[in-house]
Amino acid sequence: MAIVVERKKLGFFERLYLPQIISGLWITLKNIFRPRVTLEYPDQAPVLPVGYRGAPTLVKDSEGREKCVSCQLCEFVCPSKAITVTPGEIPADSQYAFIEKAPAEFKIDMLRCIYCGLCEEACPERAIVLQNNFSINGASRAELIYNKTKLYAEGGVLPDKIMKWKRVKDNAELEGGSH
Ligand code: SF4
Ligand code: SF4
Repeated sequence: MAIVVERKKLGFFERLYLPQIISGLWITLKNIFRPRVTLEYPDQAPVLPVGYRGAPTLVKDSEGREKCVSCQLCEFVCPSKAITVTPGEIPADSQYAFIEKAPAEFKIDMLRCIYCGLCEEACPERAIVLQNNFSINGASRAELIYNKTKLYAEGGVLPDKIMKWKRVKDNAELEGGSH
């Protein structure tokens, strides 16, 4: 048997709606005098905490040379399959032939990236680093697949001790010199 639920009848003040309007205005009035927490983005930029992980970028060493050795560890570890590395060979007659590889192309699909930082943790050369950029936007999906040029432009230079262009002996001296 169907049960009919009786609706409560509105009282006199409820039918006036005035108490509800006044209580709504009271909430608005109280919030007018509270400190503002909303930022007028993009005119006002948020203060990012130390260690903030924004979009992944590729970085160069202190001499402006690319650090990536196209080992593809980042590509394999990326849980969202956002990275595609196309390894390139360094010519045998180059003074840097001992390094063997550098990326011919490197792409990150920012639509797939979840900013987890696993690529940065896996990289043996500290060549891929999550930096402060959180504003990833574009007019098309294709624009949001960052290529090597764009990733280096975003990443800039990261002066640290890991420099693949130096031979192991030079790197050992570099390490020794810093102590
Ligand atoms: S960014 Fe690092 S982990 Fe990825 S291919 Fe280059 S060297 Fe390897
Ligand atoms: S931050 Fe995470 S999801 Fe984004 S490219 Fe790196 S490993 Fe992939």
